[in-house]
Amino acid sequence: MTDSCIFCKIVLKEAQATIVYQDEQVTAFRDAHPVAPTHILIVPNKHIESVSTLETEDEPLMGHLLTVARKLAEEQGIARGGYRLITNTGPNGGQTIFHLHVHLIGGQRMRYPMG
Ligand code: 5GP
Ligand code: ZN
Repeated sequence: MTDSCIFCKIVLKEAQATIVYQDEQVTAFRDAHPVAPTHILIVPNKHIESVSTLETEDEPLMGHLLTVARKLAEEQGIARGGYRLITNTGPNGGQTIFHLHVHLIGGQRMRYPMG
């Protein structure tokens, strides 16, 4: 937890968000500014700044996070049609919140660059 991190606060329910899934490792909640009918952010509960700061010990956590993404896509009814997973990394990657997250976006045919 870092005091100023909005996603840490959402994980701890100290900030409001529509949480659609949570377990001891990850939390998934609806993006505040959806770019498609389904737009969910999946985050590790522990504060990891970005893919750039991942450690080898985080490999099981990230594997779990992707499995949760797959299950949520099924639950949300977008698995059959397909969906997009995006992890923006660093300023040039377009990352604006520096708590690692995977965007799960679907419900429409994707355009470039997102949604
Ligand atoms: P990034 O640009 O870092 O890849 O994505 C950050 C995402 O977080 C954006 O899609 C933005 O809409 C979303 N976001 C930013 N602040 C909040 C917030 O306070 N609550 C929620 N639910 N989403 C947020
Ligand atoms: Zn954080």
